[in-house]
Amino acid sequence: MKNNMSSIERCHAALRHQPVDRVPVSAMAWFIGARAGEVGTKAYATDGANMAKGQLAFLEKTGVDMLHPMSDVGQMASGWGTVMRYTEGLAPMLDAFAVKEPEDWEKMRALDPKKDGRMHVPVKAISIMRKDPRGKNVSMFPYIPSPLTSCTHVRAMEEVLIDILINPEPLKKGLQTIADTTIEYGNALFDAGADGLLYATTRASAEIVTIDQYKEFAMTYDRHVLSHLDNQDGLNIQHVCGLEPFFQLLSEYPNCAGINWWDRGSRLKIKEAKQKWGKKVCLVCGMDQTTTLMIGSMDDIKNEVKDTIQQGFADGTGLIIAPGCEISPNTDFAKIRAMMEAAEQYGRKK
Ligand SMILES: [Zn+2]
Repeated sequence: MKNNMSSIERCHAALRHQPVDRVPVSAMAWFIGARAGEVGTKAYATDGANMAKGQLAFLEKTGVDMLHPMSDVGQMASGWGTVMRYTEGLAPMLDAFAVKEPEDWEKMRALDPKKDGRMHVPVKAISIMRKDPRGKNVSMFPYIPSPLTSCTHVRAMEEVLIDILINPEPLKKGLQTIADTTIEYGNALFDAGADGLLYATTRASAEIVTIDQYKEFAMTYDRHVLSHLDNQDGLNIQHVCGLEPFFQLLSEYPNCAGINWWDRGSRLKIKEAKQKWGKKVCLVCGMDQTTTLMIGSMDDIKNEVKDTIQQGFADGTGLIIAPGCEISPNTDFAKIRAMMEAAEQYGRKK
């Protein structure tokens, strides 16, 4: 192990359960990039050059090890016809859903990441950042929604849950089309220079669906997508921010090394996760983006990082400090730097 690892080396070693020189830090910085780069909402969300500018500015202000270049959840959904609302200063929002009737699932077609929707935005941003000296060594894990998560970006969540019960066949046709597109999009992100995906299995939580529903309407497609990506190096991170994540089921997924979950808000705490899955899964967690990072003091932030390291880093690997979901675009950059300073202070190899 080198004493001064690059961010990519550090993140990959943690994901592979190899020793690291210090615990790596991610900040789940999505739309905050627009503020960092002083780019307008729509400009940031629709042009990869603007997204690259914002993400690199964020990196310069904070020094985090891992970026998740993105603006909002609609890159694929807008390709199927979901309409976005762009308001200055706010992340783009899903405004009108594409799938209005169950039959619409069957009318969906597989998309081309180069030209449909806004998939080209993170793809272009990543390729620009990789060529920039500032972005060469940073770890980049762009967000990509799983097929069931995408379903809730093209149709209201309540309607999707009803379709699971009474329109399963049309829904499954839609899921297959979405899965095919997700594979193409994932490959395009890797081709651009991503070193992993933040694969959002956000509906894998007991307050949303039953585990049997998840297996039938999500796991099948998740496993298909993950095992059909061109890149099979196994370093992807899953993202699940619900209250009762199906951690055991997700820990068995192919082509994944880490799970990012909201440990501070869900029933599953770091200590239990480390005991049960810590040898197999890299834990990507530790910072409450809804309280500590937004309204906590610098000392609160440092103490939360210290606590995370004590619970999840006793073996010197298998942990990336991260919030449980996207950080607020209004988060103070100095507070993110405080996470980094605490990682330096408490998370160095002795
Ligand atoms: Zn989330």
